[in-house]
Amino acid sequence: MYPDSFQRLINQFSALPGIGPKMAERLVLFLFKQETTKIDEFIIDLSNLHKITTCTECFNITQNELCTICADKNRDHQKLCIVEESLDIIPIERSRAFSGLYHVLGGTIKKRDKDQLTTNALMSRIEKSQFDEIIIATNFTTEGDMTAMYLRQTLAPQNITISRLARGLATGSDIEYADDMTIRSSLTNREKFS
Ligand SMILES: [Zn+2]
Repeated sequence: MYPDSFQRLINQFSALPGIGPKMAERLVLFLFKQETTKIDEFIIDLSNLHKITTCTECFNITQNELCTICADKNRDHQKLCIVEESLDIIPIERSRAFSGLYHVLGGTIKKRDKDQLTTNALMSRIEKSQFDEIIIATNFTTEGDMTAMYLRQTLAPQNITISRLARGLATGSDIEYADDMTIRSSLTNREKFS
């Protein structure tokens, strides 16, 4: 009933996470009603997506070899915060309670095989850096907890303080959706994790 290209767009949108066919239809209709310049901007941004890659150091999303955080010499290069996904960095940055570096694991041990996470890169990074504290900021979910335990075991032989975010965040909650105040207090009150 829709023209082919219109239907194909609906299919593309409904393949995105969290978007059902009805929502996809609404989104395509919305775009259809936009001015041509808006659509052109959208097309350019979409086609630039393939230029985006992951930071060779921390695996955060970046357009360059190093992300802006790793490349920033003014940050505290002795503190490392381990997160599940790049998206988790945004609320932590917004809270302004942390000025160190990050490491993006790329998931949790339950969702992915251990070898698919960036833990090997993390270990070699720790060996060649001089971190004095590692903060584990995985989510407070069953998978996040399991991953935190696994990291604690793996990092134990290193002579570095290991801490975890304080449980200001409710059990089962994702860092990605936490507000600035909660993140700030759970970072400030982070607990030694050993
Ligand atoms: Zn980086």
